[in-house]
Amino acid sequence: MQEILLQQLKARGDEALELRQRASIVKQENVGNNVYLRGLIELSNKCKKNCYYCGIRVGNKEAHRYTLNKEEVLQSAQFAYENNFGSIVLQAGECVNDDYIDFVEDLLWEIGRLSDNKLGITLSLGEQSLQTYMRWRKAGAKRYLLRIEASSEELYKKLHPNSHSYQARIDCLHLLKDADYQVGTGVMIGLPFQTYEHLVEDLLFFTKLDIDMVGMGPYLEHTQTPLYKYSEELHSKAERYEISLNMLASLRLLMPKINIASTTAMGSLHNKGREDAIRIAANVIMPNITPIKYREDYFLYENKICIDKSNEDSKQNIEKIVKAAAAVVAYGLHGDSLHFKGKA
Ligand code: SAH
Ligand code: SF4
Repeated sequence: MQEILLQQLKARGDEALELRQRASIVKQENVGNNVYLRGLIELSNKCKKNCYYCGIRVGNKEAHRYTLNKEEVLQSAQFAYENNFGSIVLQAGECVNDDYIDFVEDLLWEIGRLSDNKLGITLSLGEQSLQTYMRWRKAGAKRYLLRIEASSEELYKKLHPNSHSYQARIDCLHLLKDADYQVGTGVMIGLPFQTYEHLVEDLLFFTKLDIDMVGMGPYLEHTQTPLYKYSEELHSKAERYEISLNMLASLRLLMPKINIASTTAMGSLHNKGREDAIRIAANVIMPNITPIKYREDYFLYENKICIDKSNEDSKQNIEKIVKAAAAVVAYGLHGDSLHFKGKA
């Protein structure tokens, strides 16, 4: 298996086309033509962690910090509900204090109320205790995205300070399962020090963990991070794109019924990134619905789309992307992971 995956990731030209076409057919056969919307609300860029790749790490003193207030979050959720998005995602840096945990819990109940419990809610709020995960689950969240970032412990350690524990992150993925979430994870592709073998390990990690959803995308540099000094050693952007598409195709072939996101990072790396991801493997897209004035502060990496006023993620533009990939926007549906449902 390892050998086959390695070959797939290294495929270029006709061989890559064939791989991606095969994945596209498997996608059609297993999850169909629908693309589900998750309106993305970037709740806060405050973070206690110091990941070496991320622009909003606590060590970046240049970052201007914000947290949306309740009204702002509810307005965004209302927008998603009125526009029939089906689901939203609340994402933020990692914060674990009691007030914040209460704040999120309250938001979840309020979003349930305003949408008559019709909006599916995904959280992406980092590592928390089982108790917190359970409280948020009870308050209405049903999916959780926690990327392992790099499933190789040795690589993980090169991307994070010693105070961050690989094992703690793995443990959290299990806690999320215990708390009855549909669990998503993912990795960055094209990181410094990352080899093809690491990426193969990532794919096998997803299968071993029997994960329900994956959000993975290319690593993109940020000048105000420690990893920036390795920029010269990275694969070119064109290469990172090829590898990302091959990773998506390989994942769809390995896990035919999971939900796979067409990520913002794909769209930021290449203007057809999100379209190609859908054509090949993805069935979820996350239009950014954070109030515009905060978007430039949720600056994970350079050239992130949707930061300016162009509104790249308007309903119209998302429809255009999905249509160009010969798929259909599934308005009003939660689009739960069929893989997760299959376990029930
Ligand atoms: N704090 C939470 C969620 C917000 S960060 C967490 O870390 O789980 C969301 C994702 O952004 C991370 O999981 C990481 O994979 C991605 N990210 C951060 N910096 C990035 C970069 N330089 N290039 C690409 N993706 C990045
Ligand atoms: Fe914080 Fe997440 Fe960025 Fe790490 S990746 S610094 S946890 S926001």
